Amino acid sequence: MTKLDARREQMLTEMGIKPRWQLRAAAAAVAEAPETAAPVQQIPSPAPVMPADEPPTWLDDAPPPFDDMPVGESVPMERGEPALEAEPAGRPAPAVAKVDPVSTMDWDALEAAVRDCRACRLCEARKQTVFGVGAREAEWMIVGEGPGAEEDERGEPFVGQAGRLLDAMLDSVGLSRQNTVYIANAVKCRPPGNRTPQPDEMAACRPFLERQIALVAPRLLIAMGRPAAQTLLGGEPRISASRGKVFRYELVPVVVTYHPAYLLRNLPDKSKAWEDLCFAQDEMARQKAKT
Ligand code: URA
Repeated sequence: MTKLDARREQMLTEMGIKPRWQLRAAAAAVAEAPETAAPVQQIPSPAPVMPADEPPTWLDDAPPPFDDMPVGESVPMERGEPALEAEPAGRPAPAVAKVDPVSTMDWDALEAAVRDCRACRLCEARKQTVFGVGAREAEWMIVGEGPGAEEDERGEPFVGQAGRLLDAMLDSVGLSRQNTVYIANAVKCRPPGNRTPQPDEMAACRPFLERQIALVAPRLLIAMGRPAAQTLLGGEPRISASRGKVFRYELVPVVVTYHPAYLLRNLPDKSKAWEDLCFAQDEMARQKAKT
């Protein structure tokens, strides 16, 4: 470590700031402390079910005409340490650190913050916020786009027609929202008329998703649809060009695939989504082999 690095680290420590991964680890330790955490139930993960020779039943529908999505590049997002403000000449560094309070919340605080959020226009028409669902210690995490009408009504992600397809897709690879997957959306409030969430809406909601990811600490993320890929990876990712590649959100591998609602409109692409899930399984196996 150079003298400059050592000085910077000392300064960060004095100001109560540490690199983000240390903050996350500390927050996770607090969340898991016996006096604050709900009793942890050890849920045995089922052995990964390798793709059967027979394709799963959710692939069975008759193929309608299919328009492919546009192809492009996905650019990994830059995520840095908390920035230090420039030091005005002749004056000491400001002693106030800007740490986003969401980034240290436990599950209860995070759920309450989402419930009360009025950070963007989506709060105006929502019936309720849709936080997330699934196993909070899951190795798999799925990120969708945003709640639709049924999710807005029931307060749970992916409970409509797209959700039923998602459950069938998960089942086909031995996964389920009850035991092995955590599911959250890029935005927690329903965009009116089920329109695509706008970039500023996803940006306003992103700290919540970031904190969910930090708390779950999944081994692998699946981004379903373009908005999900955008919020995790930044840039202007296109699904068809991003399939079959491993991206990173911080250090977590990200696999990109089609959104179930898109698959309902473009049935032939279900077989591509099946390939993507098998690819994700292989990537998960690679991750596990490393540790
Ligand atoms: N589509 C999504 O992306 N998320 C949901 O929760 C429901 C539909």
